Amino acid sequence: MAPLKALGGTSDILPGEVGAWQRLEVQARRILHLYRYQEIRTPLIEEAAVFTTSLGEAAEIVTKQMYLFEDRGGRSVALRPEGTASVVRAFVEHGLDKTASVSRFYYVGPMFRAERPQAGRRRQFHQLGVEVFASAGPYQDVEVLSLLHRLLEGWGLSAWVLKLNSLGCREDRKRIVERVRAKLAPHRTKLCEDCQARLEKNPLRILDCKEKGCVELSRGVDLLEAICPTCRQHFSQVTETLKALQIPFERDPHLVRGLDYYTRTAFEVVHGGLGAQNALGGGGRYDGLVEQMGGTAIPAIGFAVGLERVLMALEVDRPNEAPEPLSSVYVAAVSPAEIPSALSLAEEFRRSGVAAFVNLEERPLGRQLKQAAGMQAKYALILGQEEIKEGAVTVRDMNSGEQHRESRSAVVEKMKSQLRAESK
Ligand code: AMP
Repeated sequence: MAPLKALGGTSDILPGEVGAWQRLEVQARRILHLYRYQEIRTPLIEEAAVFTTSLGEAAEIVTKQMYLFEDRGGRSVALRPEGTASVVRAFVEHGLDKTASVSRFYYVGPMFRAERPQAGRRRQFHQLGVEVFASAGPYQDVEVLSLLHRLLEGWGLSAWVLKLNSLGCREDRKRIVERVRAKLAPHRTKLCEDCQARLEKNPLRILDCKEKGCVELSRGVDLLEAICPTCRQHFSQVTETLKALQIPFERDPHLVRGLDYYTRTAFEVVHGGLGAQNALGGGGRYDGLVEQMGGTAIPAIGFAVGLERVLMALEVDRPNEAPEPLSSVYVAAVSPAEIPSALSLAEEFRRSGVAAFVNLEERPLGRQLKQAAGMQAKYALILGQEEIKEGAVTVRDMNSGEQHRESRSAVVEKMKSQLRAESK
């Protein structure tokens, strides 16, 4: 039988790659906790209505990209294509809209979209997202944008641009849609095939189409001119406060996001080194969604960042970043008789928070030291008959090759402080 392969557009994250993923998550969790966000984990499959009713029947994620199937009980279920709808469903289902005055959630996990796979576009990809259910005011938008800024900065990214727009309130939306449709309808034949269909169902999406003809026709359309004074005031308070906090951004009059639930502030982060799929993340306000999904009328805002793209962008921004060593110490047993002592020494290191790898095979010391070097261990701790007899351990600095003896009972504490001092 020919060997089986992972489905197109899905990827294995191999042990050699997973460290980079874990680092992203650890850094992100630290920052998210500083902003007092709590993690929420929702199922990967949901009743399809969770997405169709919230994202909009005409949204391309729903019409073209959602993995939709009938389960064995004949229910229509979907693999989640995004996180917000599931979080809102959970928020309402568990009555959190009635108990907490401020709710800040984050999630990390796979999303699924049946897209044509290409660089930066996968069928299973991973997002880190946040959702805040609290205030309708502009300062909430600013705080969420500053969190996004902190996350990208914390990951070590530099060449990104935050783009910002306002889609207005629900009433504005109807007017804007009509205005865009009326402006573009006479030029229907100059639009690309997709946009001709969008003209009926989702005309705002034409504004962010990358086809030349569509770009030209939508030039001159500025959503800010069409929104109501209250929404315009909200937007100007957001931009003024961002300036005061020195969070750089660009106004993008064509940014629309393409989903029904968005209202007012919408944003996207793009990165110059990513090629065609240049969005690192995006989000916005969705003030009516909680109520629409059966909950209390609570305004909300959130964003999601694509982790595959963050890793791709990091390769551009920090190409020489050395991967972190897999283990800090390597415990070598000169002969199999010392393996049990080596195991117990390694355990002691791990208990005190130092990563340790221990050799468990009969293997010449030279080969063990080679393996230690390959694993980028900082020190090898060697246990032979002599060391055991003397109650000692030989410590080898893997960089300089220098060796000295330490007492067995003190070695873990000593190495721990040494590693701590070296990491400063
Ligand atoms: P969206 O809500 O569609 O704007 O998605 C938010 C972010 O998720 C995007 O900016 C991308 O970084 C990432 N993303 C969306 N779709 C894909 C995909 N098919 N493959 C990889 N990353 C994706």
